[in-house]
Amino acid sequence: MNDMKRIVILGAAESGVGAAVLAQKEGFDVFVTDMGKIKPHYKEMLDKHGISWEEGQHTEGLVLNADEIIKSPGIPDSAAMVQKVKAAGINIISEIEFAGRYTDSKMICITGSNGKTTTTSLIYHIFKKAGYDVGLAGNIGRSLALQVAEDPHAYYVIELSSFQLDNMYDFRANIAVLLNITPDHLDRYHNSMQEYTDSKMRILQNQTKDDAFVFWNEDPIISRELAKYHIESRLCPFSIIKKDGMIGYIADGEYVIERPTPFNMEQEALALTGKHNMYNSLAAGIAADLSGISNDVIRESLGDFEGVEHRLEFVCTVHGVTFINDSKATNVDACWYALESMTQPTILIIGGLDKGNDYNQIKDLVLQKCKGLVYLGVDNSKLHAFFDPLGLPVAETRSMKDCVNACYAMAQPGDTILLSPCCASFDLFKNMEDRGEQFKTLARAL
Ligand code: ADP
Repeated sequence: MNDMKRIVILGAAESGVGAAVLAQKEGFDVFVTDMGKIKPHYKEMLDKHGISWEEGQHTEGLVLNADEIIKSPGIPDSAAMVQKVKAAGINIISEIEFAGRYTDSKMICITGSNGKTTTTSLIYHIFKKAGYDVGLAGNIGRSLALQVAEDPHAYYVIELSSFQLDNMYDFRANIAVLLNITPDHLDRYHNSMQEYTDSKMRILQNQTKDDAFVFWNEDPIISRELAKYHIESRLCPFSIIKKDGMIGYIADGEYVIERPTPFNMEQEALALTGKHNMYNSLAAGIAADLSGISNDVIRESLGDFEGVEHRLEFVCTVHGVTFINDSKATNVDACWYALESMTQPTILIIGGLDKGNDYNQIKDLVLQKCKGLVYLGVDNSKLHAFFDPLGLPVAETRSMKDCVNACYAMAQPGDTILLSPCCASFDLFKNMEDRGEQFKTLARAL
């Protein structure tokens, strides 16, 4: 028992409620508090376990008497209550850190600026196909803490955002995957790229020589950072070029894993297309190979994975015009990879809430691949200023309906209409899923 130590949980959604259930099970005095409204389904869960909670406020006296705080990754450090907790010297951890204390299961953890969800889902798909007892957790799937408490698995495949990593200290990833580091969420890191980078690199902390670190060899930031660390774990770099020391690579149309079990298949047979997905497929294949999954299962899984919604998702073809939904592309880097993979003249839908984007990164690809641009946002002035001078046809829209119509009017058979907006969606949509759904529904109705 824990001498009834008090754990207070800030934020009552998937991670917070899961953490509360586990904390209760482990004998803590638990209290859950959320500044917003708690979803009915989570309230029911808390009530069912007899866990006390509040919503619409954080009552200071009920928070600052905690021995430890578990904070939802969605709550920024700048929030008033977090500041008070820090001033009071109370330890703040993430749900993943907490759950990690109560399980010895193997942890396969995936982070990076782009490609996390795709790679995490692909790894999970391979493990499932191999018949492994595996849970999906972190940013996708169900709370890790809840699974540890009520439905434990031998393996967990966990998508980790930088916000989760920020409050992780002793947690150990048996296989850590770091896909890339490019600017994102800098608003939460005092506009410091180094702070954001340090957060991503935390995925390596506590790894031992029995663990593995899978990473993209050509990422300039990862390479620079690695030189600063003393790394105990087995280094598993991958590249889309064959080079000495690579564990996985693409060469002459072949997808190759060199170690521990040699594996190869035709690149053509990979289910996921586009250069960025080569990286994701390599990272996933290496993680599976390291976990002892057979070549046959890896081959079959890499070949039949259906992809993840809103990530370069094929929607439909209408009179020879192809619609692709990449609503999840909420930063410029993601859009770069989407454009890079386009094989037909493309009409790009771009716009929304800009997180400080530098569009120079996609300028050349826009000129090379696009025959038109359709802006979709409440404020499109930055887009006009940057892209209008390129001389491509442009249209300006403020609803998905107008946007899809404008795209379709510009398109000819053989063209692709790509929603890969570089921006967050909250100016016009509930979230990026809503943006993608509206796009798909309207495209299919044409
Ligand atoms: P995350 O979970 O990290 O946001 P997703 O798998 O949801 O990543 O993909 C987000 C966006 O990034 C998609 O638009 C996708 O086309 C693009 N993307 C996916 N994998 C990569 C990668 N390895 N490098 C760069 N961009 C990628």
